[in-house]
Amino acid sequence: MRVNEIIELFQSKGVKATPQRISVYEALLSLKHPSAEAVLERVRSILPTVTVATVYNTLDCFAKAGVIERVLTVDNKMYFDTNLSRHYHLYSEETHEIQDFYDNELSELIRTFIQNRKIPGFELKDVKVQLIGNIENY
Ligand SMILES: [Zn+2]
Repeated sequence: MRVNEIIELFQSKGVKATPQRISVYEALLSLKHPSAEAVLERVRSILPTVTVATVYNTLDCFAKAGVIERVLTVDNKMYFDTNLSRHYHLYSEETHEIQDFYDNELSELIRTFIQNRKIPGFELKDVKVQLIGNIENY
């Protein structure tokens, strides 16, 4: 993703582009589902003077504006995702690795299932699925 595309994304989400924010977003892009600590470490390798608060506030700002998504795992660890397209996550509790998993059928299956159940007082807005297991890398 080029810098002008990042600026366009920020604009579309109402986020003001600053050099530090661009650096944080570039760090997020270069890492797959990173933790805040991993983002901080990556940004600091480029901007050594950046503060912890700046990076954490930027991540918070991005998540609130919908520039990125927060991913909370079953063992209560927080990661960040720049991939805003509909997808699910495969999560390894052992290695804390998260992999993207695409399946349109699964989404429709869950939507239809929940709508047919007619849960009183519940309106389904989104489906987020995290599958927990072991990830073998080939
Ligand atoms: Zn993802």
